[in-house]
Amino acid sequence: MADIPGNKEKRFDVNSIKTTTLFSFVLFALFLVFVLWCLSNFFISTYFEKARSQDVIPTAEALKTEFRQDRENFDSYAVQTAGSNGIYVRIASHEQVMEYDGTRSVRDTGMFSSDIDRILVKLVESDSDSVTESVVEGSNPRLIYASYISSPAEPSLIYIIAPLHPDEVTIRILKDLLIYVSLIVLAVSFLLAYALSGRITDPIENITKAAAELSKGNYDAKFDGSQFTETKELARALNKASYEMEKTDFYQKEIIANVSHDLKTPLTMIRSYAEKIIDISGDDKDKRNADLQIIISETERLNRLVSDMLSVSNLQSNNVELHMETFDLTEAAQDVYESFRVLQDSEDFEIQFHPCKPTYVVGDRSRLMQVMTNFVSNAVKYSGENKFVDIRLVKASRKITFHCIDHGMGIPSDEISHVWDKYYRTSANHRLGIEGTGLGLSIVKGILNLHNAKYGVESEEGKGSDFWFELDSVRKPAAKRNKDAEGSNGKES
Ligand code: ADP
Repeated sequence: MADIPGNKEKRFDVNSIKTTTLFSFVLFALFLVFVLWCLSNFFISTYFEKARSQDVIPTAEALKTEFRQDRENFDSYAVQTAGSNGIYVRIASHEQVMEYDGTRSVRDTGMFSSDIDRILVKLVESDSDSVTESVVEGSNPRLIYASYISSPAEPSLIYIIAPLHPDEVTIRILKDLLIYVSLIVLAVSFLLAYALSGRITDPIENITKAAAELSKGNYDAKFDGSQFTETKELARALNKASYEMEKTDFYQKEIIANVSHDLKTPLTMIRSYAEKIIDISGDDKDKRNADLQIIISETERLNRLVSDMLSVSNLQSNNVELHMETFDLTEAAQDVYESFRVLQDSEDFEIQFHPCKPTYVVGDRSRLMQVMTNFVSNAVKYSGENKFVDIRLVKASRKITFHCIDHGMGIPSDEISHVWDKYYRTSANHRLGIEGTGLGLSIVKGILNLHNAKYGVESEEGKGSDFWFELDSVRKPAAKRNKDAEGSNGKES
């Protein structure tokens, strides 16, 4: 038996949606953590350096403005600025030299004197009123800045020394934070992946279970696609397929029952009559011939049944070659009518024919005659006591419609759509034991479909039926027109 996925016991499967989602999320989380680590370990110094260089100029400008405008409160402002920016500030005016760090302001202690001397030379030599220099080697990388505060005539100078690396504490805090962030990202990814993959796989697992049930022949199994549009669509399609399968299964059983019955009846008859000939009528020529006649007609019935079956299967596999020609449908219908006229005398039928003017169509004449013959023979077969059949041709604009109307038993409304299905015979038909294979109309349907014709039936149970088909009409072929013209000229002369 085929291996049904739904029956497999649960085990770790690398290719499952759950595992793949889980892996993807965890990989993504690890990638994020890796990026964060790279940033903190390799790029933080560069970033810090860049941020420092960008910050130092506005800080210096703010200090210069404060120095010019509010000398009284400058000391406390400078201490505060130095503290909040983690820098060293030095102001050298003609009166005094003051140094500020984050904690205090003091008179010149000579701190960073070599840096100060070097940057001062650079400032004097420069055309600009401020200069910077980065010292990146050594254990104390720093940015040195110098600028004039007031006019070069009475110059006061500002120096700023800003460390270019974050201090140890900052780095440790950053690393600690990074560990927490990494753990949180990993945990959240894991939970998200688990929840999401569960939500995705649950409907798929439900659908798989239902499919396993269906494969056992349980058509009650319903597919549930939960809330996702895609799985809902899949479930809807599978529910439809299951319904169609159930219907097909039902009809197949019906068909097998009908076909076996149809084949069995003539075979039983043939066997019984053959036995009868051996046992009873063998020596009596007349009786024997009558029995043999029954055997022959039963054999013909079998033959018809088998050739109908072949026609249906050929039509279904598109294995039919049409011999298309332009012909007069009215004339073809007339031929069909003629072939049934004999019933008027022999079986008391009234068959009426209402043709329209000659109308040409393109099609396979003999196949379309087969269609019309089938409609008329059905009308005869199912007209019951009424015995009235009306064959009509109606021409309207560029269409011609063939109608075959009877006032017989009709077709119940809930069975009407099935009469074109192969082997289908209405319930009344079975009840009344009317002979038939249920193949005629499915052959008709195949032929009309090949002609792209419209067709249908209007019917009411107990009142009768109107089977019809419609074809496009075309112009009379030129050859025929010429022939007709010659004919009429000949007559005139
Ligand atoms: P069958 O060999 O049984 O006539 P068809 O395919 O020609 O097979 O017709 C299918 C079924 O459609 C018939 O068995 C019958 O029940 C129904 N049917 C066809 N034509 C008529 C009709 N004119 N009136 C009532 N029922 C009809």
